[in-house]
Amino acid sequence: MRMNAKQYEESLRKLNLNVYMFGEKIENVVDNPIIRPSMNAVAATYEFSLMPEYEDLLTATSHLTGKTINRFCHIHQNTEDLVKKTKMGRLMGSLTGCCFQRCVGMDAINALSMTTYDIDAKYDTQYYERFNKYLGYVQENDLTCDGAMTDPKGDRSLPPHKQSDPDMFMHMVDQTPDGIIVRGAKAHQTGAVNSHEIIVMPTISMREQDADYAISFALPSDADGITYIMGRQSCDARKLESGQLDRGNRIYGGHEALVVFDNVFVPWDRVFMCREYEFAGQLVEQFASYHRQSYACKAGVGDVLIGAAQVAAEYNGAQKASHIKDKIIEMNHLNETLFCGSVACAALGHKEPSGTYLVDTLLANVCKQNVTRFPYEIARLAQDIAGGLMVTLPSEADLRSKEVGPLVEKYLKGNADVPTEDRMKILRLIENLTLGTAAVGYLTESMHGAGSPQAQRIMIARQTNMEAKKKVAKKLCGIDPE
Ligand SMILES: Cc1cc2nc3c(=O)[nH]c(=O)nc-3n(C[C@H](O)[C@H](O)[C@H](O)COP(=O)(O)OP(=O)(O)OC[C@H]3O[C@@H](n4cnc5c(N)ncnc54)[C@H](O)[C@@H]3O)c2cc1C
Ligand code: SF4
Repeated sequence: MRMNAKQYEESLRKLNLNVYMFGEKIENVVDNPIIRPSMNAVAATYEFSLMPEYEDLLTATSHLTGKTINRFCHIHQNTEDLVKKTKMGRLMGSLTGCCFQRCVGMDAINALSMTTYDIDAKYDTQYYERFNKYLGYVQENDLTCDGAMTDPKGDRSLPPHKQSDPDMFMHMVDQTPDGIIVRGAKAHQTGAVNSHEIIVMPTISMREQDADYAISFALPSDADGITYIMGRQSCDARKLESGQLDRGNRIYGGHEALVVFDNVFVPWDRVFMCREYEFAGQLVEQFASYHRQSYACKAGVGDVLIGAAQVAAEYNGAQKASHIKDKIIEMNHLNETLFCGSVACAALGHKEPSGTYLVDTLLANVCKQNVTRFPYEIARLAQDIAGGLMVTLPSEADLRSKEVGPLVEKYLKGNADVPTEDRMKILRLIENLTLGTAAVGYLTESMHGAGSPQAQRIMIARQTNMEAKKKVAKKLCGIDPE
């Protein structure tokens, strides 16, 4: 059954999540004013999938049942699916102007569909069948899954088993005839409290001494022993104010949380890797490649920022200046280059033994490497065009004040045909995207999400065929004519 936005919201109300924010337990997560915009963004992935104009990108045909499902629950069956995934990410980013959170779970199920198959091929285990049963449940109920890879990691120079605190990486602490008991945490979890399920994967490749850390499993998000501690976002408290203007984006947002697992029981039918340490690295690399492709979302958010910069220029009366036009061209050039990387790695995807299509991993890493840089440059240009008022603007309360409101109205006017309030709104949106709550997703997540820049450089070095490049160079200049 595919859900609409209302049904999704109601399904979240039924969850019994253990969530903390500002040191207090949140009893009503769905209606919390700080969390609610992020719920709206995930709800959009449900609502837009039912609209005829977006259906082609936001739905797919399940390879398990042949039914129409939300693409966020789909296993990619060909390169067309991969390209549609890229386009879906850009579309959703451009409609919400924020992180809509549902891609991490999609990338987790696709990576697990390959790794579970490959583990079975080596060890004659039953993970793939188990995983497909679980996937059928996710697809049938149109669930949102949190993709949980990143461990706290403690001392970065030490492997899991050498950490002074063994819980710095998620690990199995016991095993029973019915399942495993796990302890640890996952950091920076996107959309965690908007999710029905949490899918846990290892965060790095492992050696034999770390076998207890080589685990992957899925749990309902409200399973006993799981605690969520909400992350703060810059300017988040503006959502507690009575006015709307200072929020920038009035409807949508994202969130991240620290998710702690305190001796949590996982039944065997939800365990997808248990001590097969030599497959941890593969799962990490395949998930990361998919998620690096998913950053087409940044081109979508870039669309909103470029649009906002153009509007700000028009409200300032500067839109005809040649350098402003050129800066807008540069922003579009960078933004489309981001999109190109995601399209390219999708179009050159290939079929893995499980039947799942995987992106071209070299190009996915190149795509993400650009994502670590270009949104910062686009944001810099947007701030240049917006002018200093973007960060010195008085509040909405001042605009509404009987005493100083007329002064704000008079002195903050740009183009005489544009109400001051509209000028304030567009500047607040640029502030939101480049310094406020949305900058968490548009900037810092572009840097670190799906792996920090160095992780991609290592992959680019590893996957580039240097011998072939050297060979042709030597042949053409006559060093080695053969
Ligand atoms: C907004 C946001 C949302 C995210 N959402 C999710 C999510 O939904 N699910 C999820 O699983 N993860 C998520 N992540 C986590 C993301 O994958 C990590 O931030 C990323 O892998 C980097 O890890 P870290 O933050 O611990 O940084 P660190 O590992 O501390 O890296 C900091 C710096 O140290 C360097 N460094 C680290 N270790 C070493 C080493 N051993 N040797 C040399 N240099 C090193 C890095 O290259 C980097 O320059 C999210 C992150 C952000 C910021
Ligand atoms: S940052 Fe982008 S790819 Fe990652 S979950 Fe958010 S919208 Fe999806």
